[in-house]
Amino acid sequence: MNVSKSAASLLLYIIRKHRCLLLWVSMSFPSIFKDEPYKMRIILLGAPGSGKGTQAQRLAEIYKIPHISMGDLLREIASGHSSLDIQPGEASELSEIKDAMQRGDLLSDETVFKIISLRLNQADVENGFILDGFPRNIDQARFLDDWLASRNKPLDAVIFIDVDFDVLLKRISGRMICEQCGRVYNIYTSPPKQPGICDVCHGRLYHREDDNEETVKKRLQVYNKNTRPLIDYYDQKGLLRRVNGVGDIDSVANAIRAELERKQS
Ligand SMILES: [Zn+2]
Repeated sequence: MNVSKSAASLLLYIIRKHRCLLLWVSMSFPSIFKDEPYKMRIILLGAPGSGKGTQAQRLAEIYKIPHISMGDLLREIASGHSSLDIQPGEASELSEIKDAMQRGDLLSDETVFKIISLRLNQADVENGFILDGFPRNIDQARFLDDWLASRNKPLDAVIFIDVDFDVLLKRISGRMICEQCGRVYNIYTSPPKQPGICDVCHGRLYHREDDNEETVKKRLQVYNKNTRPLIDYYDQKGLLRRVNGVGDIDSVANAIRAELERKQS
């Protein structure tokens, strides 16, 4: 009786001990217990108005990998609510981002590298990532290549969402926003039932000043000039996948998935 009692308590002790051990292992090596294995590392390229941001969010949900938007990272830093591990010594440097953004200046590659490195060092990137808004030029692409190569984490694919210049122009310059509820319309592709009035809340629709045709044309030309070399760069590496970006959100998302899964098989 006594023996079995002490045997039972010994068993309990071992289980408890084992539990602690398990807990310790799971906390020290979380990747062992994650049921989300490595998925993919991809870059999304696409002009303003190509639907790149929307597609990036879609893919992030489908593949359960983080959507890393350079625009979002910069806005978070500028607003002082960044989750990046910014060291005290770097804080003043990064606070310049806010000023630069307010002036509409482009950030130096060095600053951009610092930000993207901080983000890529975060734990959730282990399973892969979708980069959106970075790289923007060849120097940035080379930096990313070196960074990933030194960690033995190569890119899997670069998706280029291809949309004709004229379509982009209409998509952006035709944009109307409800001043009350923020719903977005397009006078060419998704007009409101009554011109200038929101279908949902009957608020007034307005046109963003920087969405006028001339400004948009300039923006797209700058984008083209910077992005063409990137497309060639990744094409030469055999990573580029072109996807037709004209169509509804779901059909474009499906086309991207088909390309990605073709790559993986
Ligand atoms: Zn509205």
